[in-house]
Amino acid sequence: MVSRVIPVEAFDLVIFGGTGDLARRRIFPGLFRRFRAGQMPPNSRIVGAARRQLDRDGYRAFVTEALSEFVPESARPEDDVRTFLGCIEHLILDAASDSGWDALSGMLRDGVVRAFYFSVAPSLFGTLAERLRKHGCASPACRIVVEKPFGRDLESARELNRILRNHFDESQIYRIDHYLGKETVQNLMAVRFGNVLFEPLWHAQFVDHVQITVAESVGVDGRGSYYDKAGAMRDMIQNHLMQLLCLIAMEPPSRFDPDAVRDEKLKVIRAIERPAPRDIVRGRYVSAVPGESYLDQVENADSRTESFIALRLRISNWRWAGVPFYLRTGKRMAARHSEISIVFKTAPHSIFGQTLGQHRNVLAIRLQPNEGINLFVTIKEPGPGGMRLVDVPLDMTFAEALGRGVEDAPAAYERLIMDVIRGNQTLFMRGDEVEQAWAWTDPIIKDWRERDEHPDSYQVGTNGPEGAAALLHGDGRKWRDIDDTQDSA
Ligand code: NAD
Repeated sequence: MVSRVIPVEAFDLVIFGGTGDLARRRIFPGLFRRFRAGQMPPNSRIVGAARRQLDRDGYRAFVTEALSEFVPESARPEDDVRTFLGCIEHLILDAASDSGWDALSGMLRDGVVRAFYFSVAPSLFGTLAERLRKHGCASPACRIVVEKPFGRDLESARELNRILRNHFDESQIYRIDHYLGKETVQNLMAVRFGNVLFEPLWHAQFVDHVQITVAESVGVDGRGSYYDKAGAMRDMIQNHLMQLLCLIAMEPPSRFDPDAVRDEKLKVIRAIERPAPRDIVRGRYVSAVPGESYLDQVENADSRTESFIALRLRISNWRWAGVPFYLRTGKRMAARHSEISIVFKTAPHSIFGQTLGQHRNVLAIRLQPNEGINLFVTIKEPGPGGMRLVDVPLDMTFAEALGRGVEDAPAAYERLIMDVIRGNQTLFMRGDEVEQAWAWTDPIIKDWRERDEHPDSYQVGTNGPEGAAALLHGDGRKWRDIDDTQDSA
């Protein structure tokens, strides 16, 4: 079966921060892939706006380099690169000044979709919104795409929402959380709501617990000054892990449409109880190698910021009463590995006796690497020797059945950008969701500040501090291994 690519309408996409790391690494390679897939009409235009003094050819050379670096040679035939470059313009513009805006407004066309991607430092988001409106660049149907982080607490997020909504309607604001653009995250919704098999089991009676792990093997290298002001709670939990938790825990929306889905997610965030200190483990990586410890890589030698966090959360509603949700994320961990696991209860009675061990079904949704979904089922180990039970994975990604690998699927950023052009906000965070997530996060961080405690240490290349394992051991459970989840439950 060959995938069907539906072209979007022609568009003018302006990327503020068009010479930045995100543009180079994600946005241009993503757009090029969509262009090659036939999704981007050739009369579309991409305008890179930045302060760097480049002319059009200089900017096209910048984009060519980005494609050479981030798109494999076999996937960028010269002819396609040349045609794609023909869609690209550059504009010298300082978001913090009023010059350059008339040139921008003169470039924009009527009758095509108009989108502005704020790929700049968050301190410029408000300014950009104001100037777009002031200089007549904002049309009634235009869209703005806002990168993370969206605020650093409830107050700053509210203020940013207020400024953006002064100039744009909520239906025009696309707050990116690229985790929501991952193929597997959407497949999770298809598996959950497109089948009759799972939803009857999807609650406290059958689910023992849920684990969400987002482990990174890299440290804060090069981003130390930003990261030290954020930490794992602000950088990962408040947005990415919270969003994943919402998709697992939400009630079935009545339709797969933006507000129906986001209403249900918001209800989940409202129902997450505030964790007690015993439900939280904070960590910070250390290494015997000089320069490799967290504190060597940030300016503040007395920092209290965590590079790892593990949480035991409860959702107070009928569906999830008594089911713990264990979340963990950190830097310099054993492997780069993100997975959501729904761990079901054991069978109520084992007809095989106790000696065959305890077996549980696990639905494991792997986000990286190798996106995919596995359902672990218990079967008899083949061969003679009596009844032995073994847990085997059923690959529910069905890449082969669909005639293509997940590697052919659009990556998160390109999918989300195409959704912006289509005007579909389902996979973007609404302002009230973001505020509610901060309202939950703020008191936890405030409590840490008052306690003034240092996070626990963990060795680089491990799974975090010992307390993280103890958090589950104390409940008679254990974290799923970070690197062997493909073949064991
Ligand atoms: P960057 O520092 O590499 O690039 C910033 C860009 O902004 C540059 O093109 C620069 O010219 C431009 N810029 C700076 N000041 C400007 C001004 N006054 N007027 C106009 N342009 C100006 O940053 P980045 O890594 O590309 O990140 C951009 C945004 O994306 C940030 O909000 C960041 O938090 C977010 N983000 C980045 C990544 C990533 O992988 N790089 C991932 C997630 C989120």
